Amino acid sequence: MTNLSLNLSESAAMYPDHPAIQLDNDVLRYDELDDFASRVVSLLREYGVRPGDRVGLMLPNVPEFAMVFYGVLRAGGIAVPMNPLLKRREVEYYLADSRTRVLFAWHEVAGEAEAGAKTAGAQLVPVAPGEFRTLISARPPMTDSVSRSGSETAVILYTSGTTGRPKGAELTHAGLNTNQAVTARTLIKIGPDDVVMGCLPLFHVFGLTCGLNTAIANGATLTLIPRYAPAKALEVIARDGVTVYEGVPTMYAAMLGVPEREKYDVSTLRTCVSGGAALPVEVLRGFEDAFGCVILEGYGLSETSPVASFNHPDAVRKPGSIGTPIEGVRMRVVDEAQRPVPNGEIGEIQIGGHNVMKSYWNKPDETAATIDADGWLSTGDMARQDDDGYFFIVDRKKDLLIRGGYNVYPREVEEVLYEHPAVAEAAVIGIPHPALGEEIGAAVALKSDTTATNEELRDFVKARIAAYKYPRVVWIVDNLPKGPTGKIQRREVEVPDGVLP
Ligand code: AMP
Repeated sequence: MTNLSLNLSESAAMYPDHPAIQLDNDVLRYDELDDFASRVVSLLREYGVRPGDRVGLMLPNVPEFAMVFYGVLRAGGIAVPMNPLLKRREVEYYLADSRTRVLFAWHEVAGEAEAGAKTAGAQLVPVAPGEFRTLISARPPMTDSVSRSGSETAVILYTSGTTGRPKGAELTHAGLNTNQAVTARTLIKIGPDDVVMGCLPLFHVFGLTCGLNTAIANGATLTLIPRYAPAKALEVIARDGVTVYEGVPTMYAAMLGVPEREKYDVSTLRTCVSGGAALPVEVLRGFEDAFGCVILEGYGLSETSPVASFNHPDAVRKPGSIGTPIEGVRMRVVDEAQRPVPNGEIGEIQIGGHNVMKSYWNKPDETAATIDADGWLSTGDMARQDDDGYFFIVDRKKDLLIRGGYNVYPREVEEVLYEHPAVAEAAVIGIPHPALGEEIGAAVALKSDTTATNEELRDFVKARIAAYKYPRVVWIVDNLPKGPTGKIQRREVEVPDGVLP
């Protein structure tokens, strides 16, 4: 029997006076965070929450997120993290789909949250910093964690998966715990002397497990940034002596582009981890040269709690690769008929092991379409494996472009664009074309203080890649559309009128 919230109780017993979580000057020690979480348990009981009940968290990166998250788990509940930017209809969908009883919502978004909660029949607990702490401090602490079996659901995380409307991935106590233990303890070796950057949203799998839970399980300090900005991140690294930075590739590219980045002393940084999207090799090299800190790339999905593979720190690193499976996880590359393909051939990645979700909440058909009878989860990511067992993602299956019958993987074209010195970010997309089916287009954001013309960028790629792959049309944008973690959303890139001749 176990409970993910024991991560907090055990760290609080070992390091009571140590800072657990901080947001600028607001620093909570382990004993304080643990105490607040225990009082959240009492509040949940007042709301009638019983073990197995779902409780929503519509909170930004604030210490209250951790109080509620561990409180819900300690009470035996299931946490349902939600993006605080959701509008009422979306809130209603998430709450109704997960049959969530109680929603903790940040005061700034309480209007949308309340409207959504009302129609879904959930009770709302508004969370404003001072008032919430006063509210829970008036409740008695309930320190004992409700015992759960490892295979019981701890968190339901909504994700689009490979298709369709958002579905709730049921992640288990054991899956989350083992996953973070392997990655944090054996791969990144996080301990109480570490300060972990909390700039990924805590409602997303990457920030929740690799940020919050990893830091708390190992007695480290998590320093939060509610709204990511690259200069702010550098400032916080220097101010708090951040040692471990977990982020998505656009964050590394953005920090690299900060003017006067030399003025920040980031010498405490020892390990950076990149995941969530492909890390362009040029960004990896540029960041490591500029900041003198190694970036280890990992790969995973919401459905895999999340880490599946990693560039293990003690092994040979292959830039551009997502490394090899972590302990207890198996991965393979298969063809359309789900048969493993020989090394070097492209196919879809499947993942099996302790980290794979239990199911999509209440969606047996979608679950069966994603996890087969042997426990292999289909990821929708296309990759090849080399003879040393390293995996290289070529792209997502659904992002494959077909130009005049030829397959073009956007990532390959983007990698070339990133080699151009003026390119900060690039997204390669298909533009509907009457004869070819799709034409290759590229939206590019430039680094500050640089210039490049559309034609120059097009010719740069044309000189370096097969003729059917280079983007016939390139246009320059101020910013590319990003998801909540900062991943570039190719699907949301708008094509300017009349770009095709
Ligand atoms: P999410 O469930 O939102 O975390 O998204 C998971 C998806 O992110 C995966 O299916 C991949 O398409 C993508 N992804 C995660 N890590 C990497 C990586 N290192 N390289 C390329 N794609 C990645």
